[in-house]
Amino acid sequence: VHPTSARRPYPVVVQSESTSYSDEYITSKFTNRGADVVVNNGQFVVTPTSKPYEFQTARKVAKTGLMLIGVGGNNGSTLCATIIANRHNISWHTKSGIQQPNYIGSLLRASTVRLGVDPSTGKDVNIPISDVLPMVHPNDLVLGGWDISGLPMDEAMTRAQVLDWDLQRQVAPHMAALGKPLPSIYYPDFIAANQEARADNVIPGKDKQVHLEHIRADIRKFKEDHGLDRVVVFWTANTERYSDIIPGVNDTADNVLAAIKSSHSEVSPSTLFAVAAILEGEPFVNGAPQNTFVPGVIELAEREKSFIGGDDLKSGQTKLKSVFAEFLVNAGIKPLSIASYNHLGNNDGHNLSAEPQFKSKEISKSSVVDDMVAANPLLFKPADASAAKGSKAAKGEHPDHIVVIKYVPAVGDSKRAIDEYYSEIFCGGRSTINIFNECEDSLLATPLILDLAILTELLTRVKYRDASGPSEFAPLYPVLSLLSYMLKAPLVKPGTDVINSLNRQRNALESFLKACIGLEANGDLLLETRIW
Ligand code: NAD
Repeated sequence: VHPTSARRPYPVVVQSESTSYSDEYITSKFTNRGADVVVNNGQFVVTPTSKPYEFQTARKVAKTGLMLIGVGGNNGSTLCATIIANRHNISWHTKSGIQQPNYIGSLLRASTVRLGVDPSTGKDVNIPISDVLPMVHPNDLVLGGWDISGLPMDEAMTRAQVLDWDLQRQVAPHMAALGKPLPSIYYPDFIAANQEARADNVIPGKDKQVHLEHIRADIRKFKEDHGLDRVVVFWTANTERYSDIIPGVNDTADNVLAAIKSSHSEVSPSTLFAVAAILEGEPFVNGAPQNTFVPGVIELAEREKSFIGGDDLKSGQTKLKSVFAEFLVNAGIKPLSIASYNHLGNNDGHNLSAEPQFKSKEISKSSVVDDMVAANPLLFKPADASAAKGSKAAKGEHPDHIVVIKYVPAVGDSKRAIDEYYSEIFCGGRSTINIFNECEDSLLATPLILDLAILTELLTRVKYRDASGPSEFAPLYPVLSLLSYMLKAPLVKPGTDVINSLNRQRNALESFLKACIGLEANGDLLLETRIW
């Protein structure tokens, strides 16, 4: 059996006045440095700011359950089967030889962070991110969840057609032991009509309050049955259509709760799951693009101090776009258009072939370049408040950006993503770059789900306090924007900017983890290499 989270108590020890260790906590002092900028007659007047904080991270990793909504789908069944393969160290034959299980594609398990320099060699020391702070090992996650399809998990894996047969064959008994997914909430109006044939495992009735209580009871029972400290509830079910935001229905926490009581038609299954998790005090992450987190749900999470994160896994095309568009804009090149096509043949693609569900995906894929464009007024004219309403100038300049998704059953889970970046270069020149990206969809998505669940569990153990005065340690703000790296349309604290750049997202996460052990944020200044 592979190593688990129980192995080493302190892979990293920071020797500094800023960092202290007890059996229970790692406590660190951190100065948050920034700058206030005021524009005065065309001049930028900058005042450096600094504010002291303390972080306290509980060292004991929670015994964590991962309850997936849509556990019987491609992502859900692939996640369960690959964890089982890793847990039992099952290797399998492929046409190119013997394959060992691993966690490649997981930021936490397969990438490193630069800690500093070995003074004896002058060389960088890089360590696995999962060694910076105590985190759950994916092998230790207790798996469960719901699906509107009642196919037992071994058969769900076969239906998904993602994994090599020799692996399926060996994990099948373990998958069968997971049994059938729990019955779920099915409101046909929210997912494509073509999914109806799957829906043979649904909680009866139409009373949404009863459905909410049912899901809450499922979460409690799962927790109790497995002796868990924490359950991360994760939506990896089909993409729903957007819910209409209706004043009096889903705009405030109380209104959402009342709308559930009256079984209002605009309360989606995913919103019900989110509310159930929030009321149980367990974190909820949305891996699909729909607006599960209507304003009332965000307010409820704030009120209950319960963690939420989303939306939509950033696995393939958008991940590359959040690097590539930034590369162009930061290189001073002006993208004029970004045209993105996808075709895929799995059940996700089938569901997205219906217009309202495609719309959710289109929205989530579309805003990804906005912040990079807004950050460069040299290339893109900013919105002009004095211009005529609705005019181009009033909206500000932006590259043309389209997203097309087509269902092509033959390619199955191997999604094809084609992107054209057409840009203006020096003195009127044009540059066209085409990218063809063949993604094994569920094999890209599974490590992201693991990272999201593991980070979420960690973030529930981190507390902070404003160290400029005598204040108590408090949990982080409920919307976990530190999860953004794995998400296409990151949910952030209302009123704050969304960061889409993959580099900035990773930097934020690394800097945060380092701050929790009292280390400075990443610096690539490397001054010692620039001076005598
Ligand atoms: P899938 O269709 O194979 O699996 C979804 C599962 O959800 C199905 O088994 C279905 O029966 C179930 N389901 C539908 N409605 C449900 C409900 N109300 N309650 C419980 N179960 C329900 O799809 P997938 O490929 O596993 O993708 C899952 C989700 O993740 C989709 O929304 C997709 O858009 C999103 N996503 C996937 C990727 C990726 O790379 N695979 C990337 C981004 C987002």
